[in-house]
Parts: sequence; structure tokens; C-alpha cells
Amino acid sequence: MVTPYKHEPFTDFSIKENKEEFEEALKYVKGELGKQHDLLIDGERIRTDAKIESTNPANTKEVVGTISKANKELAEKAVESASEAFKDWRTWDPEARAEILFRAAAIIRRRKHEFSAYLAYEVGKPWKEADADTAEAIDFLEYYGRQAVELKNGKHVESREGEHNQYVYQPIGVTAVIPPWNLALAIMAGTTVAPIVAGNTVVMKPASNSPVIAAKFVEVLEEAGMPKGVINFIPGSGGEVGDTIVDHPKVGLISFTGSREVGTRIIERASKIQEGQNHLKQVIAEMGGKDTVVVDKEADLETAAEAIVVSAYGFSGQKCSSGSRAVVHEDVYDEVLEMVKERTEKLTVGNATEDNVYMGPVVDQGAFDKVMSYIEIGKEEGRLVTGGKGDDSKGYFIEPTIFADLAPDSRMQQEEIFGPVVCFTKVRDFDEAIDVANNTEYGLTGAVISNNRAHLEKAKYDFHVGNLYFNRNCTGAIVGYQPFGGFKMSGTDSKAGGPDYVMLHMQAKTISEMF
Ligand code: NAP
Repeated sequence: MVTPYKHEPFTDFSIKENKEEFEEALKYVKGELGKQHDLLIDGERIRTDAKIESTNPANTKEVVGTISKANKELAEKAVESASEAFKDWRTWDPEARAEILFRAAAIIRRRKHEFSAYLAYEVGKPWKEADADTAEAIDFLEYYGRQAVELKNGKHVESREGEHNQYVYQPIGVTAVIPPWNLALAIMAGTTVAPIVAGNTVVMKPASNSPVIAAKFVEVLEEAGMPKGVINFIPGSGGEVGDTIVDHPKVGLISFTGSREVGTRIIERASKIQEGQNHLKQVIAEMGGKDTVVVDKEADLETAAEAIVVSAYGFSGQKCSSGSRAVVHEDVYDEVLEMVKERTEKLTVGNATEDNVYMGPVVDQGAFDKVMSYIEIGKEEGRLVTGGKGDDSKGYFIEPTIFADLAPDSRMQQEEIFGPVVCFTKVRDFDEAIDVANNTEYGLTGAVISNNRAHLEKAKYDFHVGNLYFNRNCTGAIVGYQPFGGFKMSGTDSKAGGPDYVMLHMQAKTISEMF
């Protein structure tokens, strides 16, 4: 009998022992840097000549690991392996499948700081963010394991006299899992184990910015007892490996998390029926955001300023849920802007593998160049309040930046920047605030800071986002507490960490027997 689910607690780094333990883990991982990691297909390690080199974005000369790189043939081999393994895995008792997840959770929990330290090295995560990423991975393992067990006997349907009706859930088949680098452990782990615990088999292509942490996670799954062929690990390029697994006729389900551009391309490709394909492919696609913190005139302004800062700069604004827009009532606009400026200028920026900083670098040169080019656009479209400088001489560092007085339809207020930049827009009243908050193509998260109950009630209906938060920041959803997924062009609203998530990886079957 498993204990009821509760989320993994976060580490308090103000406690001396915790800080020291984390420093120890950083030291340990430093000694592991530069190792080779191989593909895993049908339970076999495959080393290729082609490699992906993963480096520390805070110190680009530091190689975190060298990873074998799959190509089209190896990706096809991985799908064949998953297809073969499905024949047996689909018949396993859900409880036995869940036990593997619980064991994997226990292994990661014992080595929690080690995993978080890898996140600091590979994607530049500050300690607090890395710790939350690891905790979320543990949560997904625990939560989805329990959910699969709950679904074991399907759901109740009525039966008439002399008839027995059953409604059960069965796995779909081979699942292509394509995660992003930003929640490099949590999303990669969650999107991998949800299909697996439902009885599907997986080919997983990690993001090219974070293949080492993915390789470490796959090792844990093996250690926890995952049978061969159930998880196949094939790092490689999005174009070659990604397209191969998306197009493959034996793939039944695609679970993608990443940009709108790649996600919509996958949806399009998956809809094309390939030769030999005898089913419709299902696609879960969770994509970008342009998320807004709305501040009402009747609001606690300290709460508002804190919510804007935390939403904008956590992990350097590189969360799909990052609050990159602040839409503020004109009566409190200047005051809130000043409070946010003050807080922003106190934030520490640096290398998380050396120090417990608030903000690390952005993830790579492409991200650095993109954010810096938006900063130039911001200078034309609005008023630079603070920040605006970048330095990529050693790592990809960008100051936390504020732009004020932006038009709601400006590029800065419409496009996903994915960096430490927050843009302010002034509004006359609450109705206008909600209109502005809704005027992007995205609909992922949003926050409203208000003490006006009628306004909060209006936001419940009219603020069109998948995750809406009141009087707090718009980031930091917890598995099992705030299921996560977006409306509009932000995705298929699969609600990761929610009560229906595992079911999305299954198909419902009705069985009716006459006696
Ligand atoms: P991305 O560039 O779209 O990449 C995501 C994944 O897709 C990576 O594994 C990438 O591989 C792969 N890929 C690239 N091209 C592909 C193709 N043609 N076919 C198949 N796969 C392909 O996104 P990212 O930069 O990693 O992540 C940032 C984005 O993710 C942001 O837009 C953010 O908002 C979004 N996001 C959304 C959520 C959510 O829950 N809604 C959560 C986290 C992040 P390579 O790395 O090898 O290119």
C-alpha cells in the first residue's frame, strides 16, 4: 500500500548544513564533468562517432559531458526496439510498472543535490531553481505512479440485467518524447514516465542543450528495473532525429514540450498518414507563453512588486510560465514600477556552480543573441528603466531588465523573449487590464494582484489562460496541486501533474458481455 501523494519539499539553503551539502554535490559533479554518455537502444549502449558537446552556459569552456548522437537509422532502430518491447510491457500489471517509478523517485531523492548540481552545470540553474526542478521530477514519478494504479480497473459504467459492461484504459503503443531544456530534469522525466507507466514504450530525444541530465535520468530508470526496450534514449538533432520519430508509422503518440514553432510543425507532420500506418497519431504539444501579471489599483503593492520580480526573473525568465508582461492600473503604475526597479537592481547574477546567485546565464549563444536583439527593440518601442546590458565573454549573462510604457500590441508585449526582461504597460481600469492580458496568441499562465473580489471573479471567467494565479507569482506550479498546461497557441492543455494526465497516454475501451 503506497502512502498518499504529497509533493517533495524544497531545500532551504539559508540553513548552513543544506548549503554545505549542496556545495559538496557541486564538487562531486565537477569531478564527473566531461564524461561520455551513450545512446540506449533495446537495453544496449551505443557509442557513435558523432557527438553533442554539452557545455556550462556560465563558463562556456567547461564541458559538462560528451554525448553520442543518433541519426535517422539509429532513431528508426529505437522505434523498432520500442515497438517490440511494447508487446510485453503492455501486459504488465500497472502496480508493477508503478513500483519502478517509485524506486526511481527514491534513487533521485537520495541523490537530490547531485541532480540539482548537474542542472546548475548544464543549464545554469541557480540552486533554488535547480532544487525545484529536481523536486518536480520526483513528484512526477510519485504522482503518475499512483495515477496509473488508480486507473487499473478503468471507470464505472452501468450494466443492465444479463449484461456486464466494462470501461478500461489501455496503452497506445510507441511514444516519441521530445522535451525542452528549460525544466531539463522535470519535464523530460515527467513526459517520459507518464507514457511508460501507462504501458507504452518510449523513444526519448532530449533537448540538445541538456542531454547529460537526461542520460543521468535514464541510468536511474535502468537501475530502478526498467526492462530493456521500454525506454530508448536517442539524443540528436531536432531536424534529423525529431522528424524521424515524429514521422515514423509505428509511433502512436507524440509528447512534445517546447516552442510554438516546433510544436505546430510536429502537429502538422503527425497528421500526415505514412505508408504502413494503421492508426491516427495523437499529439500532446505544450508550447510557449507570453504571460502577464495584472496589477489592480486595489492591491497590496508589495505583493505585486514581488510577484512581478519572481515571475520575470526566476531562471532568467526562461520558463514558459515566466511573467514577461506587467499590466498595471494607472493609479499605482509609477509606484509599482519604482518598487520593481528597486528589487530588480538588488538581484545577484552569476555562475550558479560557484555561488548561490539569484540569476544565472541564459542557456546558449542563440538565446543570448535573441534576448539582446529584443533589448534593442525594447529601446525603440518603450523606455529602458534598468538593466539592458549583456556580456557573453565567458558565459551568457544578461542583466535583469525592465522596459516601461509599452503599447499592448508592441513586439515586446507580443513575442516570447525567453530571457530576463519584463515589459510594463499602463491601463485605465481593470476591464482594459484583462483585455490587454488576453491580447496575445498565447494563453499559458497569468496572475492578478487585487483585493477586489468582483475583479478576481471576473478574471476567473475572462482571463483566458490555462493557469491563473491570484495574489502571487505566475510561475512555480506544483505537481498534483496546480496541474499545468496552456490555452490558445500555448498548447493542447494536457495539464501535466494533473489528475487526467496519465489517461492522455491511453485509449479507452468498452467491453460488453452478455450472460
Ligand atoms: P524547442 O526549440 O522547440 O525545442 C524543444 C525540443 O524539440 C528539443 O528537444 C528540440 O531538439 C526538439 N526539436 C527541435 N526541432 C525539432 C523538429 N523539427 N522536430 C522534432 N523535434 C524538434 O524549445 P526549447 O528552446 O527547448 O524550449 C523553450 C520553449 O519551450 C519555449 O517556447 C517555452 O515556452 C516552451 N516550454 C513550454 C512549456 C509548457 O509546458 N507549455 C514548458 C517548458 C518550455 P534540439 O534541442 O535538438 O533542437
